[in-house]
Amino acid sequence: MSTAKYIFVTGGVTSSLGKGIISASLAKLLQARGYRVTIQKFDPYINVDPGTLNPYEHGECYVTNDGAETDLDLGHYERFLNVPTSQANNVTTGRIYQTVINKEREGAYLGKTVQIIPHITDEIKRRMVLLGDSGDFDIIITEIGGTVGDIESLPYIETVRQLKWELGSSCMVIHLTLVPFLAAAGELKTKPTQHSVKALLELGVQPDILVCRTEHSLNADLRRKIALFCNVNVNAVIESIDASTIYDVPILMYKEQLDKVVLAKLKLALQHEPELEHWKAFLGKLKNPVNEVRIGLVGKYIELKDAYKSIAEAFIHAGVANECRVKVEWIHSDKLGEDSIESKFSGLHGVLVAPGFGDRGIEGKIAAIKYVRENNIPFFGICLGMQCAMIEFGRNVLGWKDAHSTEMNPETKHPVIHMMEDQKSVTRKGGTMRLGEYSCNLAKGSKVAAIYGKTKIGERHRHRFEFNSKFLEAYENAGMIAAGINPDLNLVEIVELKNHPWFIGVQYHPEYKSTVETPHPLFVKFVRAALDKSRELAK
Ligand code: GLN
Repeated sequence: MSTAKYIFVTGGVTSSLGKGIISASLAKLLQARGYRVTIQKFDPYINVDPGTLNPYEHGECYVTNDGAETDLDLGHYERFLNVPTSQANNVTTGRIYQTVINKEREGAYLGKTVQIIPHITDEIKRRMVLLGDSGDFDIIITEIGGTVGDIESLPYIETVRQLKWELGSSCMVIHLTLVPFLAAAGELKTKPTQHSVKALLELGVQPDILVCRTEHSLNADLRRKIALFCNVNVNAVIESIDASTIYDVPILMYKEQLDKVVLAKLKLALQHEPELEHWKAFLGKLKNPVNEVRIGLVGKYIELKDAYKSIAEAFIHAGVANECRVKVEWIHSDKLGEDSIESKFSGLHGVLVAPGFGDRGIEGKIAAIKYVRENNIPFFGICLGMQCAMIEFGRNVLGWKDAHSTEMNPETKHPVIHMMEDQKSVTRKGGTMRLGEYSCNLAKGSKVAAIYGKTKIGERHRHRFEFNSKFLEAYENAGMIAAGINPDLNLVEIVELKNHPWFIGVQYHPEYKSTVETPHPLFVKFVRAALDKSRELAK
């Protein structure tokens, strides 16, 4: 039996209260006290993973080293803890049912009727304790997606009830609720919290700690009232006040002593005070930038910024590394025509063209790249952004007017981006892309080799198409260099333009690896190039 401790985080009243950030912040504090902590997320939807979801549904799909397509909260976990997650850290109802149904087809249930309790809940339980059983962690924090009261969450809450019973003091529940401020009454209201805890109690789960999301400070009376109605100690009523940045939340939770209350409940030693010097230094620089750069982010899901969560966070990390505020200008690729390019891009210090799928917005991305290439504005292309850079170069420098990706134009005579060989036989959509970490050799003397400070790297991928090496010679002769090559398949993973201050396209997703502790070197140097550009424009 493992000695790991389990913390479950549930949400009540409404969605979007920031369970992921609270979980990551608590994990950060426990880690800073010397514990080995990981976080996992259980999502109640039927999709086997979020890989098939449109970003408008739940935002970005985050990819782990082992190639799992996961919920964007896993990105927060990695960015806060600086510890990689894996497939085991994200489980959905679809995956649970798929496992149970496959076992049923194999005859593993020996003629029994297969039911939600105990078969589905047993499978949930097995996965909930999996990382604890590995022996790699002292504390496992499990975030349950959705809101208490949702029909879909019921089997998860039931499993938490069972585990609380089985694990006793090795297990606890934190419930996150909202304490709204009613402007007309001029008051904070505790009733939704009381109701939400009642909903949890009806399912047999008594929360140990309440984290109350609020716009205004909770006074002692209010805390006492919540404690009284919800059967928790007053010190277990934790205020989670709106913060100007998510990176403030660990500090706010420390002030509220969330980590201390948690450790006391789990009967674990406080060890030492949390070592947060690096974190605080990061926050100090984040809040007191010396410079500012304006970077355009061109994408087609601009209405929903969560679609580019890891990129936005990587810019924050890179900004801090340069003591500079990165002001991201969100530019809709759908709405870009030749006529609007100049006005939108002329004052920018750098432009990033985002990853994506499908035809929509593609010409806007290509037009944007033409402008930044010709005007020496630093350019960073990620995945589809890199592919668009190759299309643009093919059309406007090499003169192949029909250059395209076969994803958008299967008939083109110049398929400069084409489907990867082993993708051609793929018929199923879910989990079938080239996913996860692959190695890449950097060309000696290239910009990227200098940026990474080494010649062998590993980065995470999520794509089906790639640069068509048949055209490489023509590109290199015209100044577009293959600066990174996958050693096993000889794929072009990085391109850079010779006669340009900073023009780099990568087939992988560097944003997934950027954390508070280790900002990604490509983002750091891209922001530095943008800073140089801003100084040049100011002259
Ligand atoms: N649609 C492109 C491909 O599948 C790019 C993918 C991406 O940007 N993640 O190759």
